[in-house]
Amino acid sequence: MAIMDIFSDVQQFLSEPKKLFIGGEWVEPSSGEYFPVENPATGQNFAQVSMAVEADVDRAVAAARNAQEGAWAKVQPAERSRLMIRLAELIEADAENLGQIISLENGKPYTNAYKGEVVITANIIRYFAGWPSKIEGSTIPVSPRGGEPMLNYTLREPVGVCALIVPWNFPLSMCAWKLGPVLATGCTAVLKPAEQTPLVALRLAELIQKAGIPAGVVNVLTGFGDRAGAPLSAHDDVDKIAFTGSTGVGRMIAKAAAGNMKKVSLELGGKSPNIILPDADIVRAAKGSADGIFYNQGQVCTAASRLYVHESVLDQTLEELRKHAAAHLVGPGLDPANTMGPLVSREQHGIVKGYVDRALNEGAELICGGKAPAHLEGGYFMEPTVFLDRQEQACIAREEIFGPVVTVMSWSDVDELVHRANNTPFGLAAGVWTNNLKQAHTIAAKLKAGSVWINCWNVVDPASPFGGYKQSGWGREMGKNVIDAYTETKSVFVDLS
Ligand code: NAP
Ligand code: MG
Repeated sequence: MAIMDIFSDVQQFLSEPKKLFIGGEWVEPSSGEYFPVENPATGQNFAQVSMAVEADVDRAVAAARNAQEGAWAKVQPAERSRLMIRLAELIEADAENLGQIISLENGKPYTNAYKGEVVITANIIRYFAGWPSKIEGSTIPVSPRGGEPMLNYTLREPVGVCALIVPWNFPLSMCAWKLGPVLATGCTAVLKPAEQTPLVALRLAELIQKAGIPAGVVNVLTGFGDRAGAPLSAHDDVDKIAFTGSTGVGRMIAKAAAGNMKKVSLELGGKSPNIILPDADIVRAAKGSADGIFYNQGQVCTAASRLYVHESVLDQTLEELRKHAAAHLVGPGLDPANTMGPLVSREQHGIVKGYVDRALNEGAELICGGKAPAHLEGGYFMEPTVFLDRQEQACIAREEIFGPVVTVMSWSDVDELVHRANNTPFGLAAGVWTNNLKQAHTIAAKLKAGSVWINCWNVVDPASPFGGYKQSGWGREMGKNVIDAYTETKSVFVDLS
């Protein structure tokens, strides 16, 4: 099939160097510098965006503070809901353009961008649009020492100005995960998208403006981690930081946040164990496991990257995995025939290729894949790759790869299996494939992971909490849990004597 034409609205959107969105206006970066956005399917630059630096961070934080204490504070909960529903409608109306922009800058297949990000983003904003009128305090029966009559109640208040720093793997929906609760709770935000995928966040800012959300409530700074992200996370007038990305940068953010003790939530890396029990429906389990690692070219924090298969079904599972890998069509995401796009960048491609080479040196057995497809030049493509690591010794069994590479290992004793599954510094997700109800729930209870999937993978819902144990993060996003992360609770005592 042919590569899709670029829609005329997208062409127009890309035609001028993109400005920063600060205080409801599109402004030049104070650095006067711009940087290119690359299409990872071709290696060609196709857009220019502003390079935000510390002075822009200061401007954006001031605009967010101004909105926080001014116009936005006066907007009633029902009106916040209405504005958010309007935003969800505008996202849906712009879905094709948003999908194409994501596919261009991230590389993922257009259909996955459309269904897996744009539709989901609208759903997330709609879910959170239901919250503003439901964020309640409580009245608490207190027991004052002197016996005087006392009324005690709590108020839930927005935490304030939030710094939102997001990665490139889900460049639109990651914004929604954080902007949903920001808008619902009445906070304001300075959003810094990843340097590889700044465009869709700017498109979203246009829709935020069009929805009538007051100036300064959401500000978008495109730029680099060191020049924009670092001063934002250290800023004394930021009240909270919500970050998704690598564990290494998460650690730097936690340190930077300590200066003014801003609240911190972190969604970090993973090396998630996926377990197949001998009684599982192997055809279904292998399909789910293949999707769990190959979706989004494996660039998913919850990628099913460690696959533990019972020894009695190992051969059958490997055969099925080989079939699913072979069925993928790897190529540009804007060709509707393709099911896997390129990795996001030359750097990411180098990292993944480096892991493949190390795994081979360390004695892991290559079942399929492991190279860039021969017919594709210029882009950062990688075949879906399956390794068998009998000894569980290779680096690919321990370290996050962030690419379409699964490490298969076999097991025989279930207690030892659970120990092996938990023997990692990460704790983001885990899964079990079985038809044995007792085993499913028993193992689910023992796995140290924020999400456990039984006979499924990568199911995420805006109503259900998501986050990591151990070094996979701090706090939970989504659901009612995240409302706590974006609000302060004030306890008010009234002496009625
Ligand atoms: P990353 O380097 O951690 O970047 C994430 C974001 O942080 C980007 O916007 C980045 O800006 C910014 N940043 C970099 N250095 C910073 C600093 N010193 N201070 C403040 N911000 C800084 O991660 P990535 O390369 O985008 O993505 C790959 C990693 O992210 C993987 O390890 C993966 O596990 C993790 N990830 C986790 C989740 C999750 O939900 N837990 C989701 C997606 C990805 P630049 O773009 O300029 O570097
Ligand atoms: Mg980075």
